[in-house]
Parts: sequence; C-alpha cells; structure tokens
Amino acid sequence: MSTAQSTKLLSPNREHTRTGMSKEALKQAYIDNLFYIQGRFREVATSHDLYMAAAYTVRDRLLARWVKSAQAFKVNRARTVCYLSAEFLLGPHLANNLVNLGITKISQESAAELELDFAMILEEEEEPGLGNGGLGRLAACFMDSLATQCIPAIGYGIRYEFGIFDQTIENGWQVERSDTWLRNGNPWEIPRPKICFPIGFGGYTEQYRHADGSLRHRWLPSLEINGVAYDTPILGYGVGNVNLLRLWKAEAPQSFDFQAFNVGDYYGAVHAKIEAETISKVLYPNDEPEVGKELRLKQQFFFVSCSLQDMIRLHLNTVGSLDTFANKFVAQLNDTHPALAVAELMRLFIDEHGMAWEQAWTITRNTFCYTNHTLLPEALETWSVALFERLLPRHLEIIYLINQDFLNQVREKFPDDETRVIRMSLIAEGEQRRVRMANLAVVGSQAVNGVAALHSELVKTTLFNDFYDLWPEKFHNVTNGVSPRRFMVVSNPRLADLISHTCGHNDWIRDLSLLRHLEHHADDVELQQRWREVKIAAKQDFANWLQQQTGVVLDPQAMFDVQAKRLHEYKRQHLNILHIIRLYQRIQQNPNQEIVSRAFIFGGKAAPGYYLAKLIIKLINAVAEVVNHDPLVNGRIRVAFMPDFNVKNGQRLYPAADLSEQISLAGKEASGTGNMKFSLNGALTIGTLDGANVEIREEVGAENFFLFGMTAAEVTAKQREGYRPWELYHADPELKADIDLINSGHFSRGDMVLFRPLTDHLINHDPFMVLADYRAYLECQAQVSTAWSDAANWDRMSILNVARMGKFSSDRAIVEYAKNIWNVPPVTVER
Ligand SMILES: *Cc1c(COP(=O)(O)O)cnc(C)c1O
Repeated sequence: MSTAQSTKLLSPNREHTRTGMSKEALKQAYIDNLFYIQGRFREVATSHDLYMAAAYTVRDRLLARWVKSAQAFKVNRARTVCYLSAEFLLGPHLANNLVNLGITKISQESAAELELDFAMILEEEEEPGLGNGGLGRLAACFMDSLATQCIPAIGYGIRYEFGIFDQTIENGWQVERSDTWLRNGNPWEIPRPKICFPIGFGGYTEQYRHADGSLRHRWLPSLEINGVAYDTPILGYGVGNVNLLRLWKAEAPQSFDFQAFNVGDYYGAVHAKIEAETISKVLYPNDEPEVGKELRLKQQFFFVSCSLQDMIRLHLNTVGSLDTFANKFVAQLNDTHPALAVAELMRLFIDEHGMAWEQAWTITRNTFCYTNHTLLPEALETWSVALFERLLPRHLEIIYLINQDFLNQVREKFPDDETRVIRMSLIAEGEQRRVRMANLAVVGSQAVNGVAALHSELVKTTLFNDFYDLWPEKFHNVTNGVSPRRFMVVSNPRLADLISHTCGHNDWIRDLSLLRHLEHHADDVELQQRWREVKIAAKQDFANWLQQQTGVVLDPQAMFDVQAKRLHEYKRQHLNILHIIRLYQRIQQNPNQEIVSRAFIFGGKAAPGYYLAKLIIKLINAVAEVVNHDPLVNGRIRVAFMPDFNVKNGQRLYPAADLSEQISLAGKEASGTGNMKFSLNGALTIGTLDGANVEIREEVGAENFFLFGMTAAEVTAKQREGYRPWELYHADPELKADIDLINSGHFSRGDMVLFRPLTDHLINHDPFMVLADYRAYLECQAQVSTAWSDAANWDRMSILNVARMGKFSSDRAIVEYAKNIWNVPPVTVER
C-alpha cells in the first residue's frame, strides 16, 4: 500500500469553506451554492433549489478528494480495474455520499440550524435508473466497494437519457411512464466535452499498404458518431479514495450538419443528428435480451468502443506504448453486453495501432474477465451474422479469425469430436447464422466467473461444460454481495444505530463480518425488545408511505411478507399468489379460525412486452381488491402492490420486511441480491435452494431459514422424465380449487377469461414448476406462521440472520475479485 504525496499546489484547501468539513464551513458553502449556483436565496428557493445546493456542497467535497486520488493513482502508476457494464442502477447519491464522507449527523445539524427540512431535501433527489434490476444494482454496489477497498477503478457505461421506466398501476395493470431523470439537471455529473471519441457503424473493410510498408486492414464506416464522457465521482466509505464512473453520451459530430447543409438538405441533417443521438437515448427495459434489436447492438458497441479508446488514450498518455496495456488495466465484462470489447480491442490494436495479431491476442486475453449472470439458455445473447456484417463488418472478420484459431485449438485437444467443435464455435450454424456473445466472452477472457457457488458449479457442469473441459483453470466463483452502506446505514439508520450500540463500535460498516458479535446477544431479551421496536418503526414508516401511494392501509403488527424483484415467471410471484388464495379460501371455509395476520407486499416491474408478467401484476392487484375488502377476512390478511420498485423505494421496503420471499425454481436464479438485502435487514427467508440462498442458509443456519421445494438436480430429473402439471392439478384438490377460483372470475368481477392465459399455461406447461412446488411451499408457510407466533424466538432468529450476513457484503466480493481474478493491489488515498 502507498499513500498519496501531499501536493500543496492546486489541491483545494481542506480548511477553505468551499470544501471544509466543519459545521460552519458546510453551512457557509451551502448558502454560497444556493446563491452562486442556483441563483436563489433562502426565502425564494424551491425544494429543488435546496436539494441542488446540498448536492453541490457535497460534490465539492468529492471533487477535492478526487483530485488527490487522481494524483495518487498517477504517482503509483496504479493498476486499474475497468468495470464495463451496460447498466448501473445507482440509486440516489446524496444520502450515500453523506455517509461515505462521514457527515450525515453534522449535515442534519447544519440543516436544522438553517431551518431546512433535511428529510425533504433527501426526498427531492430523483434516482438515475440506469439499469433493470440485479445486474445493474450489482455494478453500483461494486463501484461503492471498489472505492471503499481503495482499488483504483473506472466504471464505464452508457448515460441513458431515459432510464428504466417509471411504473404506475392503473386499474390493476402496469402502466409505463418514461423516466425523465435529467429533466431538472444532474448535479453529480461533470461533462467532459473534450473526452470524445468517434464511433463508426456500417460501411466496408479493405486492405491497404501502410506507410511503414506493411499490409493492413482498415474499416471505412458509412456512419460516424461521437461518444462524449460524463463523469460521476464515486467516493468510498471512510477513505479518501474517489473512483470515476464514466458514462458515454452519443452525439452527432459537428461536421454532420455542415455536409448536409451545403447540399441544402436541412431536414436530412437534423434527422441524421437525431439518429446519432438515439443511441444513448433509452435503456432497454428487459431483464433478458430481446432478440435482434439493432439499436441494442449499436449501444453495446458504442459504449465498448468509447471505453477502450479512452483506456488506450490514458495508457499512451502515461506510458507511451501499448505493450504493457494489460499490466495497467484489467477489464471486467458484466455479462455479455460488453463482450464486443474482445473484438474491438483487437481491431484497435491491429488496425489502428499496427500491432501484430499474436501480441494483440495475448494482451486482449490478459485484459478481459467475464462474469456470467444467467443459466437460462434463452437469455444467452446471440446476434445474427447478417446484422453484424452490416453494422460491424470488420468485427465480424476479426471474430472469424479468432474462431479459426480457437477451433483449431479445440480440435487439437479433442481430435475427432466435430460435434464439440460445433457446440463451442463462436458462430452458431443453421438457417440463420448467429454470433454467440457468451462464447466470444469466454474465449477472449483470462477468467470466467459465476455469481454464487451453486451457479458457478452449474456454469462448469452445464452451460460452459465444453469450455471447462478445455480450460478448467479459467473458471471461478465470486458470490455476489451488497453494499452495507446503502442497504443498511443509509436505508435503515435505526437498525444501524442499534447494531453499533450493541457492538460498541461501527467498524462493521467497513468489515461486515464483525456483525458476528451480535450472536452473543441473540438471547438478550432487552435487545430482542429493541430489535422489535426498530422493526415496527420501519414497518410504520413504510405503511405510511404505501398508504399515501396506494391507499392501502397496513397494520405494522402484522407479519410483512414481501416479494420485491423484477416480475418473471422463473421468480414465481404466482406461487406466492396461490398461497394467498389458499389462506383466503380457508378463511371462507372457516371464518373463525386463528390465523397469523400477514401483509403480503409485492413490488417489481414487468418488461413492457412480457405479457404473462404483466398479467401476474394484474392478478396480484385483483386478489388484493377482493381480499382487502372481504368482511370475513376482516383485515387479517392484506395484499398490496407497491408501485415503482426502484432503489429509492427499495430502501424504504427492505428495512420493513419480516419475511423475504426467495422462491425461484432451483437452478434458475444465478445469485439474487435482494435475498441478501432483506436478510441483512433482519427478515427471515422462505426460499428454495437456488442462487445465493444456498449460501445464506449455510451462513445463518438451517434452523433459521425456511427451506422448501425441489433441488436443482431434482428439477433436472423431473424435466428428463417428463413433467405433467395437469396431473398435479387434478391430484391436489386445494391446488385445483385455487386455480379454479381464479378461473371462476371471482377476482375479476365475473370475467372468466381474463386470467386464462396464465392458468392454462400453468396447467398445461408450467415451465417453472409452480405446481410441483406448491404443496411444499404451503407446508413451509405453515411453519413460518408457527414460528411467527413465538415472537421472542422470531426476534432471536432475526438477530442471528443479521449477525451471520457478513459474507454478503460487496466489499468481500470485491476483495475476492481483486485477489483471485484481477491481481490489483489497493492504493490508499489520504483522507
Ligand atoms: C436488489 C435489487 C434488485 C435485485 O433483486 P433480486 O431479488 O435479487 O432479483 C432489483 N431491483 C432493485 C431496485 C434492487 O435494489
């Protein structure tokens, strides 16, 4: 480890009010920013002005540390991680930055002295929703942990003008509204108009004789646009380290307008400009790739090329030669979205910088690492060769060349095994030839990892089994994690305080394994009591917010049973609904029975084109409508769909959950991170042996985890022997009654066809085996109810869950990547 040289020149003075850390300095800076940046004074400022002044006050303090970090990294010639991700689901910046700077309390006091409403100012921030769900949120947690672990890093991605859509619920259906997060300006980003790279599309390739006499290839694109950098500083917790998140915006080059203007084609010029700028216009709202969307491929190439050109520029600026490129940088591919980087880096090295193929390939392979996020074969990205040829002709040539060498290597190791060669090829042959992005990523990387132990095993034994045979040493596991800053300190300050008080320190915020200390206090009746009070207070906060959003009233004494995540059949929100319908029918049959009061809370967005997922949302709301107004139920069960589940709303929800629903079909969820956030906040989990649930259960203990359902192996076996859901439907009278009640129109004002696409699909196909796990799920839920009835023991289990969640910090994940995969040492920047 090394420390930054203190540079007096040019470094902003810490004692100066502009970046000072005393209360007086903060207050003065705030007033100055309100006046000089927003052009407002206290009496006429809107709540947005007040927020902007706070954001600039914090940003100044980040930039002061960023200057020091940049200097330290330069002096140390630090190896740098480049995290390439098409998504960063960041969540609001302000509160998180206050925590990382360590000035939450003093800022609160400053606000009070200035007679400002601190909570209102935080509430004012609109989150940058530049991601769909888990994958994008992982990238954001990793940015936080990279800085906290003092690893020099740049996050590279796309500055979407419209992030993930805002969801509203109308008449029970999801309605999408465009997310206009940049409408009021973004105080956290710094535009860098001079960091700008040309990006080509289309055209053709040719050979030519270079000035040095060598025969070279070049690509002559038919269209060129620019990528412009926008930087957001990312500060670590309790350290001076600031890393950069550099997002690219697409712009038309100036020359565009000129050309067309000269020939009098004004509309043509404007149209071309709009075309160019659509590339970074909108995030695709699908959790999985939609086949064949040309704009999506353009987006991928756009951000990958900008990022690699930027890395090359940075390296040549300091070193002057590309030979050591892979010593300076390691680039992590977050899923296959940036997999084109393999071909583009080869092109840049060979065509643009005249490097020989062999050397270029060695450096490329040493640069990249790839994280796989899915086992669903239909979610593996491929692109048609025809589209590739039209959009990226030179890259297709390079991919063919890589493939030739690679397949020869396969043939050498496995002679006379052409079916293996066909399976492993970067090109899927057939009626429509397609480029397999996952294969390109595996071949072009030095390391491949899955995101939970089970997932990484399945990656080796199923998905990439052929590659594992060839290169067993390439395969790793790094179990995902979440940031304890955002998902505990920021979102659940009461629990964070109680933990710090109980442990006698707050070092657990940077070393989550220290939560273990709580184990000693799990039986402490007084702690259990306070633990419960903290949970109830979080539930009350959430209930207040939900009532204001939806009108649904929840009783904070009821068990909050929560499933919040993207809507997807494999996540099985419909299994959860069948349980609710079962409880409802039991009440109808025997209204006076003792039952545990539960509030079932759902949240999550459905991809706009995913019909069944949207129908499941409608069903949840339809069941809610009936159950919530049924006099026999009498409030004992409540069902609510919280609209617009995003990071900001998630932060309200995770602290309020008693029970976390992690009920995907085993073998389908790669890791999950929602499971970690809930458990870290004291919810107990009901779940299958899927993704990181397996490891969560190992950590918290089988006796503190509600397990049900088939294992991944049992799922595979059942599929092999032939799965017949209709037999289950006819064999289990309660299951049949639940599905029949949906079909009777009971939840749809007599409409007997509304939900038929869903129920028919369950009975006849049920690809995610909802019916097969139904009975086990009900039985497990009965155990949950029994456990809830012993409040003290529930609190004890909740404390133990939190105490044993240390492994699931994203800090631990980043340290594993740094040591086992990246070989990047930390560089500590003075605070
Ligand atoms: C954590 C998180 C997710 C991921 O949830 P899973 O349960 O792991 O699928 C999705 N969306 C948001 C907003 C999140 O914060």
